[in-house]
Amino acid sequence: MKRVGVLALQGDFAKHRAVMESLGAIAVEVRKPEDLALCDALILPGGESTSILKQMRFIGLDEAIVNFAKTKPLFGTCAGLILISSQIVGDAMIPLGILDVSVERNAFGRQNDSFKAPIFVDLGPSEKSNCEAMFIRAPRIRTVGKDVKVLASYEGEPILVRQGPHLGATFHPELTDCLAIHQYFLRLLSLCH
Ligand code: GLN
Repeated sequence: MKRVGVLALQGDFAKHRAVMESLGAIAVEVRKPEDLALCDALILPGGESTSILKQMRFIGLDEAIVNFAKTKPLFGTCAGLILISSQIVGDAMIPLGILDVSVERNAFGRQNDSFKAPIFVDLGPSEKSNCEAMFIRAPRIRTVGKDVKVLASYEGEPILVRQGPHLGATFHPELTDCLAIHQYFLRLLSLCH
C-alpha cells in the first residue's frame, strides 16, 4: 500500500489525510525530516505559507523536501503550491523552487473574496472531470515554465499544473467531493515506483 506523507505543521492537513485514507492509501503526518523516510509521496496543504515556511526552515524540512522531490512526487495545494513554486511575485519570500511556476499570493483578494467555482479538469484522454474548486485567499499562477503542463484553468488562467511527478493546485481539492485529483496523484505515485 502506498504511504502518502502530509506536511502537518499548519493548515488543512487533516482533510488531505482523510481523503488519502478514503482512497486506500496510508497517510503519514510529516513534522520532521525523518518522517519523510516513511513516505512514497508528500502533500503540502493549504494554510499560511509564511508560517509553514518559517517552521520548515527551523527544523530543516525545507532542504529535506527539496531532496525528497528529486525522486518522489509532491502535491502542493494553495499555500503548499506557493511553497514549492520557483518564484513569488511581489513578495520577498523565497520558495523551495521545485515546480517551475511563478505565483502571486492572495491574488483573488481577501478572505471574504474566497469562492467556489465549477471547473473542468483534464487528467488524460479518458479522465476528464467536472469538479468544484474552493479558492480560499488563493494564489494565482502568473507564469509557467516550458515543462509544466496545465491540467485545469479558471477564467483562462492555470489553476492545476503538473511538472513530471509533481502537482500544484491554487485551490483546495480536499474540501470538495471531487476525488479525481487525489486519485490522479496516487496514479502518478504508482508510475514512480
Ligand atoms: N493566502 C495563503 C498564503 O499566501 C494561502 C491560502 C490557502 O492556502 N488557502 O499563504
